[in-house]
Amino acid sequence: MTYIIKNGTIVTPEKIIYGADIFIKNEKIEKIGENLKDRVDFIIELKNNELVFPALINAHDHLLGSYYPRIGKGPYINWLPWDNDLKNHEVYQERNNISNLDLYFLGAYKNLISGVTIVSDHIPHIVNKDFIDKMPIHVLSEYCLEHEISSYDLRWGRGITIEHSEAREKDIPFITHIQEGFDEEACLGVNILKEMKALDEYTVLIHGISLTESDIIEISKANANLVWCPSSNYFMFKKTTNIKSLLNKGVNVSLGTDSPMSGGLNILDEMQFAHSLYKKLYKEELDYKKLVEMVTINPAKALRLKNVGKIAEGYYANLLILKSSNSLNPYEALVKAWFDDIKLVIMKGKPLYGNTNLFAEFKNVEKKNYEEIVIKGKKNYLIGTLSEIYKRVWENISYKKILPFLPIDVNL
Ligand SMILES: [Zn+2]
Repeated sequence: MTYIIKNGTIVTPEKIIYGADIFIKNEKIEKIGENLKDRVDFIIELKNNELVFPALINAHDHLLGSYYPRIGKGPYINWLPWDNDLKNHEVYQERNNISNLDLYFLGAYKNLISGVTIVSDHIPHIVNKDFIDKMPIHVLSEYCLEHEISSYDLRWGRGITIEHSEAREKDIPFITHIQEGFDEEACLGVNILKEMKALDEYTVLIHGISLTESDIIEISKANANLVWCPSSNYFMFKKTTNIKSLLNKGVNVSLGTDSPMSGGLNILDEMQFAHSLYKKLYKEELDYKKLVEMVTINPAKALRLKNVGKIAEGYYANLLILKSSNSLNPYEALVKAWFDDIKLVIMKGKPLYGNTNLFAEFKNVEKKNYEEIVIKGKKNYLIGTLSEIYKRVWENISYKKILPFLPIDVNL
């Protein structure tokens, strides 16, 4: 399959190319340029200055926790008492009626309709290995992990040394929660990793809310990566990591939602919250472009993913097409976007979700693989059968609950 997306404003995201065409051949971007005249199967003409971004990457989620509302009465000293409150709550009991597979689907669709095609689900392979291939988007399968660098962690993984050295061997990330709390032990996370020689460019640290300046210097020197989950941090601890210092010291920071039972509704919500929290904490604006990098090129680098996170020749055609906004620059438009602004999500050249008019342009789409759903009053096509999943969930919990991260029309 070959096609051209014509006349978009392309946010690569390193730069913006106005009025350019993208030539897509099978799964990849073959060429970018003005007025491309190549012979293709069909052309998708963007008539309203739509913005074209790389599809987004959510660098930290717990798909098994794809439920609502948020639970907790923080601020907590560390994540453990929150976890206890969660597990003793009636909403958690309600969630337990739903199969793990359906919770994964809810999480994958939550990500997809917010423009995400790649998500890092920080859960042991033993839990997610049977589900992730069934998901409509790409859920990371190649990673090593430790739950957290503390003695009260959940014993995911085979220990820091084994997991970290396997990550190096296979050129995949070593992912761990770190310093998600303020007790004496939590605060030692970076020191422990350094002592165990497990702090380097393969290391992806989640949270780090109690990082000190010297921890941040060590992270920066080691070229390790950090995933920032501001909504979740603020909800549980009324505090987040020292993001300004991390950025000033050049640490590769990505954005993650965590699960909606503690974190943001979706990656769009997370970007907006990150921007407003930064302003509240530092009385200055966080550059919109920096935030866009945190959901595209930065997580691609941290998670060691090849040919994604950027619009460039030879990269996968993972694209997010957004309604244009005359009053905002393209970076700001993405940070301020909401459900209605998303016109199309493409993964490896194939449309997964979007506006029915744009979808109709795809000459090769088999309608039977999609369903029409209404979100906020607007008709969209969506791959798979979300309505069936919702129906199963409603049967399991005995009422028609609409999750605000999947706000579909209730009249199924
Ligand atoms: Zn987490």
